[in-house]
Amino acid sequence: MENTKNKKIIIANWKMNPETFSEARELFNAVKKETRKLENIEVVIAPPALWLAQLKINDNDNIELGAQNMHWEEKGAFTGEISPIMLKDAMVKYVILGHSERRINFGETDEMVNAKILAAFKNKLTPILCIGETFEEKKEEKTQDVFKKQINNAFVDITEYEIEANKIFIVYEPIWAIGSGFTPAFDDILSARLLIKKILAGLYGRRVADKVPVLYGGSVSVQNAKDIINKGGMDGLLVGGASIKAGEFINIIRAVAN
Ligand code: PEP
Repeated sequence: MENTKNKKIIIANWKMNPETFSEARELFNAVKKETRKLENIEVVIAPPALWLAQLKINDNDNIELGAQNMHWEEKGAFTGEISPIMLKDAMVKYVILGHSERRINFGETDEMVNAKILAAFKNKLTPILCIGETFEEKKEEKTQDVFKKQINNAFVDITEYEIEANKIFIVYEPIWAIGSGFTPAFDDILSARLLIKKILAGLYGRRVADKVPVLYGGSVSVQNAKDIINKGGMDGLLVGGASIKAGEFINIIRAVAN
């Protein structure tokens, strides 16, 4: 698997932003320019699907494209959906799956997430699987149960050989931290990482679990980015709001790179 322990991953989830393609291109080009200088960071930009095929990456650019979602079927009568084959054709390498906004607002179930991971593997796309608890679940100390359910269900019918043959990232995104300005304590982020690794080890053994990078997402900023990596023990970050401001996102990249 390609991602080494030293190479940190920073994913930009632009969600339904910015408003126009010219703004998107400007933001993309600014980040792309910055990443050319970096060797210890892998940057993935996940713009709205409409622009995936238009944002151009050259051979010497150290940046990749990710989709924010996809359907599990390869083609057919699925109005409004985008297939893994279409993403491959647009040179997309990554796909965010199971984001809480899709689970909550669009009824995406664990079973759908599982079908999408299987489809991503089949088409050599790297899934970025998002998991995380609500504030109520946190208060009721149900975080462990939520992780177990979301991971066990997401990995149904996926063998250890498939995990080894493909790349997959898991992102811990506490739902209460997304867009709120609040983040868990660094110790809690570290505990979340260890719990995710433990659940994976239960399914596939420690050796395979060690190969799955675990990232953090939720109100990442220039102020906390480096500590989330160092004190929270994370392999990377998924950045929402701060990723659509070129200067702020570039500063997050620099903070992690240095
Ligand atoms: C997200 O929704 O994936 C996210 C990380 O958002 P934010 O950084 O804005 O909290």
